Amino acid sequence: MKKIVTIVGARPQFVKAAAVSRAIAQTSIKEVIVHTGQHFDKNMSDVFFQEMEIPKPDYMLDIHSLSHGAMTGRMIEKIEDVLLYEKPDGLMVYGDTNSTLAGAIAASKLHIPIIHVEAGLRSFNMMMPEEINRILTDRISSLLFCPTDAAIDNLKKEGFDHYGIKIVKNGDVMQDAAIFYAARSAEKSKVIASLGVEEGFVLATIHRQENTDDPAKLRAIVDGLNIINQERRVIVPLHPRTRGILAAQGIVPEFTIIEPVGYFDMVELLKHCALVVTDSGGVQKEAFFFGKPCVTAREQTEWVELVEHGFNTLVGSDTDKLVDAYRRSMQRSYNFSIDLYGNGKASAVVAQEIERF
Ligand code: UDP
Repeated sequence: MKKIVTIVGARPQFVKAAAVSRAIAQTSIKEVIVHTGQHFDKNMSDVFFQEMEIPKPDYMLDIHSLSHGAMTGRMIEKIEDVLLYEKPDGLMVYGDTNSTLAGAIAASKLHIPIIHVEAGLRSFNMMMPEEINRILTDRISSLLFCPTDAAIDNLKKEGFDHYGIKIVKNGDVMQDAAIFYAARSAEKSKVIASLGVEEGFVLATIHRQENTDDPAKLRAIVDGLNIINQERRVIVPLHPRTRGILAAQGIVPEFTIIEPVGYFDMVELLKHCALVVTDSGGVQKEAFFFGKPCVTAREQTEWVELVEHGFNTLVGSDTDKLVDAYRRSMQRSYNFSIDLYGNGKASAVVAQEIERF
């Protein structure tokens, strides 16, 4: 029987793990889950494990609220201890957070093969901590699961054909989660009733460091959402980092702010909204999964196919562009039926390939 150690730590990784761990449970692979603690609040972590029935982590490392270097360093140290004890056949990491990189570095030094789910994505913006994490993790992995053709092309351009690394296009595991939980969310969530909203509101999330760390950018995005809110109700489940900075900077939103929500609530909000404004990676795709146009408050995206097909508009942190993109998107009609992300089969491919590897 194969044994793998899986590292999770941040909200998007819980959503990915919910889909992939379910697929792995259908195989003979034994999965040991390590939660680094990067996200630790009840509504940023616990709620996902409970609602989505993700297996309880075997190890809780409790590492959070530190600088990038301190956080990554302590994670490497503690993950190394786990790997020395568990002696797995492989280590699996998701996406692009500090937990991803820490896991990959710890495993690489012990010569444990690394499996990277959501490999090959690039924003080509080296100021993003996530970009550094992705590039380094991909390079030291042995098995890369790419969600899109664009991700495969990025790896080819970087010479990955010559590194002896196995590359598999599997689709997007977040779509698997979206499909699975969308069938259950209406029964589980009361968010639409409790907010007193009808269809047709704008759902927004803002938390990317490039926006929150620059008060001028954050103010410009809030200004845009305030203008949209005069036409259509804007609802924002607010990331704790953004909430703290808005308060510290005296930036006053006029739209509806709620605490970060669990996944069932998020799915219901996605189902019922008219449009999404976000700087999240995952939420850009989820807008597409739920058939909603998206306006992205970033200069680049890793999910280029959404922009190419016109489902997503990049507006940076420009108030006028944001409002203009919202108005144009609301006037257009879209056909979301194209298969860009595998239509719900990505996690099964991951599980089968690991069994074979
Ligand atoms: N999400 C959630 N509740 C929220 C905001 C986001 O469940 O209040 C989910 C969202 O649907 C997606 C994931 O969290 O599945 C994305 O995480 P985030 O935006 O924090 O990270 P990113 O994708 O930008 O790395």
